[in-house]
Amino acid sequence: FTMKKIALLGATGSIGTNTVDVVTAYPELFQIVSLTFHSNSEKGAALIKQLKPRYVGVGSERIKKELGDRFPEVEFGVGEEGLIKAATLEEVDVVLTAVTGSVGLNPTMAAIEAGKDIALANKETLVMAGKWVMEAAKKNNVSILPVDSEHSAIFQCLDGQAQGNLKELVITASGGSFRDLTRVELESVTLEQALNHPNWSMGKKITIDSSTMMNKGLEVIEAHWLFGTDYDKIKVVLHKESIVHSMIVFTDGAYLAQLGPSDMREPIQYALTYPTRLPIKNERAFDLTQIGQLNFEPMDYDRFPMLALAFYVGKKGGAYPTVYNAANEVAANSFIDGKISYLQIEHFVQQAVENYQETTEVTLKEVIEIDKQTRTIVERWIKEEGRL
Ligand code: NDP
Ligand code: MG
Repeated sequence: FTMKKIALLGATGSIGTNTVDVVTAYPELFQIVSLTFHSNSEKGAALIKQLKPRYVGVGSERIKKELGDRFPEVEFGVGEEGLIKAATLEEVDVVLTAVTGSVGLNPTMAAIEAGKDIALANKETLVMAGKWVMEAAKKNNVSILPVDSEHSAIFQCLDGQAQGNLKELVITASGGSFRDLTRVELESVTLEQALNHPNWSMGKKITIDSSTMMNKGLEVIEAHWLFGTDYDKIKVVLHKESIVHSMIVFTDGAYLAQLGPSDMREPIQYALTYPTRLPIKNERAFDLTQIGQLNFEPMDYDRFPMLALAFYVGKKGGAYPTVYNAANEVAANSFIDGKISYLQIEHFVQQAVENYQETTEVTLKEVIEIDKQTRTIVERWIKEEGRL
């Protein structure tokens, strides 16, 4: 195992923080040479002190100025340009994409074209433009290693298996914060309740996405692109304990599952060390005899319409998943900002997908344009319809 030089996009977030834990546990194996964050300059400054990166991408000229004065030895960049530069520095071996949302796309594409391997947490990138991202990865001979726990599980199960032996993928879902509520009960839920995830501690947007099952929808599309699996061969089951991270089923009916604690450091570290496995420092206690029972239940697609919609947009292909993702980004963030009620998230995603029509094959450039247009449309709807 040779020392890996890492670009960490989204260093101040939940995945970013877990990645810093993994990296600093093995200073002889990993070095963060560049990192980015958006607005959290306090945490960003602490990370610069701790990790001493050569390059830092930030969200505004103001932060660049402020931190540039404090850290004259560091080079700073702003916005998308900063993200792209951080991801494509000459010495970078692998880019860990832990920004949230479709801002991850262009830096990820630039990194792939520069021949960098990708440790992918930013699932929105694959949902928005999976076809082009995977094509570019193949063409430039770079690996895309999953960080998302379900995909890491499937990746580990599939490793060394012949594709022809695969019958289906089974993605597990915890059910999110509101799994035991009826749709009527959902009408009055608050942001605070939505942010209280039963098993995982994560960023705000993905926590909301978990409760609407949008996250699982995005993961279905992510799995389709990562593993080249038809939508008919991707199944989702409710598994409240989040112990089985996902499974594969072979043509003869045998299952292979990956189990472990709900600790994102595991998939993050494996994406960085694959195929080597190393101990996790301060590993969490994990004892199946203490857990005692694992439960699996069918998904209720009427209760979780966003999951049904994921299969619909995924099978339609083209820019349908782009629209689904873009509408959700705007709607979920508007719920976080208190502009709409909880069920309006689904309402606006549904409406955006229904509103979209594709007649000819789209290019990557058009997909990026459709992403922007969808955001504008949904923002307008939110302004017009306001809080229901
Ligand atoms: P967080 O919200 O915790 O962190 C997001 C990071 O991205 C922060 O560093 C933030 O900077 C930065 N950021 C936010 N907006 C922008 C922007 N417009 N431009 C550039 N950078 C920006 O998110 P998570 O860590 O939870 O999730 C990151 C990604 O990983 C998502 O795609 C998510 O779906 C995926 N993922 C997360 C998991 C988890 O356990 N959290 C599990 C599996 C996948 P700042 O702090 O300065 O605002
Ligand atoms: Mg996941």
